[in-house]
Amino acid sequence: MKIQRAEIYPLSIPLVEPIKMSRELIVDAKTVLLCLTDEQGRQGWGEASVAPLMTGETLDSLLASIKYLVEESLGLDWGSPDRFAEMFNRVLYSNASAKSCLEMALLDLYTQEASIPLWQYLRGANTAIDETAPVAIPLLRMLGGSLDKELSDAKALRELGFRHWKIKIGSLSLEQDLHRVKVLCELLDGDTVSVDANCALNLADAILFCESEEAARLTFVEQLIPADLPMDDFIELKKRSAIPIGLDESIHGIKELKQFIEAKAFSGASLKLIKTGGVIPALACANLLKRNKLELNLACKVAETSLSAAATASLGFAIGSVAWGFSMSNQYLQFDICDEPLIAINGYVKSSQLAHSGVGVTPNINRVKEVIAKGYSAIQC
Ligand SMILES: [Mg+2]
Repeated sequence: MKIQRAEIYPLSIPLVEPIKMSRELIVDAKTVLLCLTDEQGRQGWGEASVAPLMTGETLDSLLASIKYLVEESLGLDWGSPDRFAEMFNRVLYSNASAKSCLEMALLDLYTQEASIPLWQYLRGANTAIDETAPVAIPLLRMLGGSLDKELSDAKALRELGFRHWKIKIGSLSLEQDLHRVKVLCELLDGDTVSVDANCALNLADAILFCESEEAARLTFVEQLIPADLPMDDFIELKKRSAIPIGLDESIHGIKELKQFIEAKAFSGASLKLIKTGGVIPALACANLLKRNKLELNLACKVAETSLSAAATASLGFAIGSVAWGFSMSNQYLQFDICDEPLIAINGYVKSSQLAHSGVGVTPNINRVKEVIAKGYSAIQC
């Protein structure tokens, strides 16, 4: 398989409402789409979003590394996807987000050529799978805004079938956050409810939070403390917390997973394609978690389109089960770039929604062109 040409689209898509995290306010999805055309004229699409506080990528840096990777890819013979990562590493060190974007577009082409949905290809390649058929993946919804708004949103979304939740904490005082958590946990009794501090708490406050009665009903807490704290702090938090400890910013791939497994410092991890460098490395991470009886949350960065959503869901269908839910962030966009976006059905996403060969969704090129970020233009390679 050879790439004849490529277009790179830097996009900005407004969110339904701003999403406040402890260290940033997100008002639009800054994301990059890549369209590859192969020798047969097929088009394969990839996506990666900026995440300055998670991967260090800005729109400019991501565009530059994707452009570099793609230019180096033209003319190469892309054989088995097993070798994609090795081929990327021959031309560019690190830069997981750019590699995940190119990997997604190449896999879209590869599985279209093989006339198979990406999820089915990944499931076939996953020797660790034990279930007989793919299971529906529960979608996780973020809650935010005033407590009244969080309560009314949670009630309305619960009516639609959602049972997995994430409460962003760390912007308010510990007491205020604990109060929100208590009230929301009471409303959502029996559901999978988590909090995510995005590194905002110090170790003492994190321990206090986990030991508080108000937080006792939580299913897990995600990345309470900064990723650059020493391992001993994570070990201490894990020892002191009765609530399972999830990690996100601390985990970028197999290397960190092995370190935290060795230290017995966590209960589960959040995997994003922009961190792992694509779905194939993410599948290896998911299987490592599974072998060690650790939990898994799948996530897109806030926010990515149906394209990343479909690739991440495909990973979920290949893994078997996603107990901590899938944060599918196209739910927060004012509009998607696909005519048939991937949507929640009773709070779940099902493999039957990705029945087409390839990644399973196709962007509408006109819509893509309409949302090119201000001051940027499409790049032809
Ligand atoms: Mg997180």
